[in-house]
Amino acid sequence: MKSPKILLIEDESTIRRFLKVSLESNSFEILEAVNGKEGISMAGSYRPDVILLDIGLPDVDGFEIIKKLREWSSTPIIVLTVHDREEEKVHALDLGADDYLTKPFGVPELLARIRVVLRRSSAEDGKDPIFRSGQFEMDRSAHVVKVSGKEVHLTSTEYDLLAVLVKHAGKVVTHRMLLKEVWGPYSVEHVQYLRVYMGQIRKKLKNSDKAPELISTEPGVGYRFLGGASD
Ligand code: CA
Repeated sequence: MKSPKILLIEDESTIRRFLKVSLESNSFEILEAVNGKEGISMAGSYRPDVILLDIGLPDVDGFEIIKKLREWSSTPIIVLTVHDREEEKVHALDLGADDYLTKPFGVPELLARIRVVLRRSSAEDGKDPIFRSGQFEMDRSAHVVKVSGKEVHLTSTEYDLLAVLVKHAGKVVTHRMLLKEVWGPYSVEHVQYLRVYMGQIRKKLKNSDKAPELISTEPGVGYRFLGGASD
């Protein structure tokens, strides 16, 4: 397999250097853009497999870049953001970014996020109705969920919520995206619904005290189904 191409849009040279070294040593090919305008034009000419995008850029802000890219491109975008800016992360995800990393982040975390989005974009063509991750199994054609081979009885709303998380397995899904997908565009403010339903789903999925959590809460942002599709 040829090495995946990553476009890095970041104005800070220290961070660019750090990311270039780390990613190249993990056999990725790195293209660097030092501002937003350059980033957009390089995304068009080089067709990267993943875009790492700093939100705080000197010319065009990162949100504008996401909007512009999403007009024609579905290339996965991972946003690089600063600690404690929940609303920034939510906004970026709602505009179509795939995930985010909070600075400072470690290389293993960065590599894990990149692998998730790469696996997702290559799995999208496959469309296998059965999703498996560890002891968890979801048959999306039959609407059946099993944990350790035993069927888990979910209400249709619980199933729909879980299906949205599974569709984006490994990535965070914002409250707004979940509410919109399951209850429609007029429900996006009702975050408290989610808390109740997620509590129920978690309880049903956990068949023993020792079983690992399948869903993580990203405070102020949304939820993430842990673990990716088995390949
Ligand atoms: Ca910056």
